[in-house]
Amino acid sequence: ELEQFAYIASHDLKEPLRKIESASSFLVEDHAGALNEDAQTLLSVASDAASRMRSLIEDLLRFARIGTATLELECVSLEVPLTESIRNLSSVVDEAGAVFHFVDLPRVYCDPGLLRQLFQNLISNAIKYRTDEAPEITVDAEVSDEICVVTVSDNGIGIEAKYAKRIFEIFQRLHNRGAYSGTGIGLAICKRIVERHEGRIWLEEGHVGGSRFHFTLPLRATK
Ligand code: ADP
Repeated sequence: ELEQFAYIASHDLKEPLRKIESASSFLVEDHAGALNEDAQTLLSVASDAASRMRSLIEDLLRFARIGTATLELECVSLEVPLTESIRNLSSVVDEAGAVFHFVDLPRVYCDPGLLRQLFQNLISNAIKYRTDEAPEITVDAEVSDEICVVTVSDNGIGIEAKYAKRIFEIFQRLHNRGAYSGTGIGLAICKRIVERHEGRIWLEEGHVGGSRFHFTLPLRATK
């Protein structure tokens, strides 16, 4: 129900938002001369708020779609979605000088497109929440009877244990927009993706020197 609501609400909100955006840009382009400095400042506050609302709506739609998408399951090496996600992030990876460590990752039963999105969210956070050091990101996997536990670690600013649950909730952020950009949906999407694979995701509490996330995936088809 939440997904249905999110889907409809975000669709319906797009139309009034489009009107706010086009009215603001009309004012800026055609009437800027008629506005005093205060009015121009207020107008740019309104435009910024509208573009932020667009990001929130689009993220909400992405989140809702993951809940309803049909899974395209196949048995693939984890390296496939992982390397694709790194390639998709190549400009931020290069800009931050991020280094990756992973070897011989196992084959898992998953939707590779969703797994790519999952890695992309974890890796872009690892880069975004870095310290002054170049980001080092390690991906390991441990295989037991039926499942694979994947670990993604970074050497960034880390997350206090008291926030371990809250970070996975939709639109929950630990920093304000001035410090780091974002809408607070990345980890909620990761949780949704893992849950669609009947797995779970968690933050390792008490890990020092960065953040360490674990998630589980099935090794074979269960249905
Ligand atoms: P966003 O990055 O848009 O805020 P997320 O849902 O991806 O949203 O993350 C939620 C919060 O968890 C972030 O605001 C940040 O404070 C924290 N976080 C997520 N990943 C990391 C990480 N790798 N290192 C440090 N903090 C992180």
